[in-house]
Amino acid sequence: MKKHVLRTRTLLRRGCPRCGRCMFSGLLSMPVNCHGCRFLFDRGEAGYFTGAMSLGSVICFPLVVFLLALVHWIFPNWSLMAATAAAGCLCLSLTPWIWQFSRTFWIHLDHSVDPVDRGFRGPHARRRR
Ligand SMILES: [Zn+2]
Repeated sequence: MKKHVLRTRTLLRRGCPRCGRCMFSGLLSMPVNCHGCRFLFDRGEAGYFTGAMSLGSVICFPLVVFLLALVHWIFPNWSLMAATAAAGCLCLSLTPWIWQFSRTFWIHLDHSVDPVDRGFRGPHARRRR
């Protein structure tokens, strides 16, 4: 039980699946390796974050529906078109966090299914040096 609480806390802090340190160096920037444990986030695979983009869509749809309900609740006299536009703009403003959380969820999901040991630096590590 305690392990799940710690993992959830690491997910919400957008932390590395191995050491828990935040994976992002800015709102829209992510280093290749973890600064804490040198964990290679994309495993050296091209297109690794394509799944994260799909996860972002999965996160975004219920968020837009929730924001639409929220806008309609706050401004009940607005038309559906205006409320949808406002909800879309609100969701657009949350894009950096959606991007970060989708990548975090994707990395944690991948790491839970196929954990990487500490010495692994990606399949193309030798070629990069
Ligand atoms: Zn780390």
